[in-house]
Amino acid sequence: MARFDPLAELTTALQRLPGIGARSAQRLAYHLLKTPREEIDALCAALLSVKERVTYCSICSNITDVDPCSYCTAPERDSRLICVVEQPENVAAVERTRGFKGRYHVLTGAIAPLQGIGPDDLKIKSLLSRVAGEGAKVDEVILATNPTVEGEATALYLARLLKPLGVRVTRIGMGVPVGSDLDYADEFTMSKAMEGRREM
Ligand SMILES: [Zn+2]
Repeated sequence: MARFDPLAELTTALQRLPGIGARSAQRLAYHLLKTPREEIDALCAALLSVKERVTYCSICSNITDVDPCSYCTAPERDSRLICVVEQPENVAAVERTRGFKGRYHVLTGAIAPLQGIGPDDLKIKSLLSRVAGEGAKVDEVILATNPTVEGEATALYLARLLKPLGVRVTRIGMGVPVGSDLDYADEFTMSKAMEGRREM
């Protein structure tokens, strides 16, 4: 019968996290073993409250602890401008430029047929109703999906759906390295990408 091994359990759990390989998981597990009890308690509490308190915005699908999120309700933000990104963390990348004062829409992924992710798995319907719904006053949709094969395909797909709605559709400019995630774009590169956006 297998004996319960707490350290092995922890290592296995950590290894399920993205970007954590076997070696890193083991290093983290040993580090946590030596961490004072109070810090472990605080970490556990933070993990649980993220699961219990953080939810998705019913308008833009960004992560938030209040619904609608602060980006959707901020009166100083321009509702006529929507920046579409793949993941909530991409919102942070655009925010770092401090130049964008519109609103966001998080798709929660990109179209990736090989991974079985189709348009219906993404928050596309809610985007279309924000653009074409009753009382909608959107002038421009900026497609800031990642510069990857999936991100580009998703941008093309969205442009085809959005343009007939009479809205200006733009794609962020190059400069963000092809094949990378927007998260890795520094503030300057991201600012240039937003400034250099082109009509689709
Ligand atoms: Zn929102």
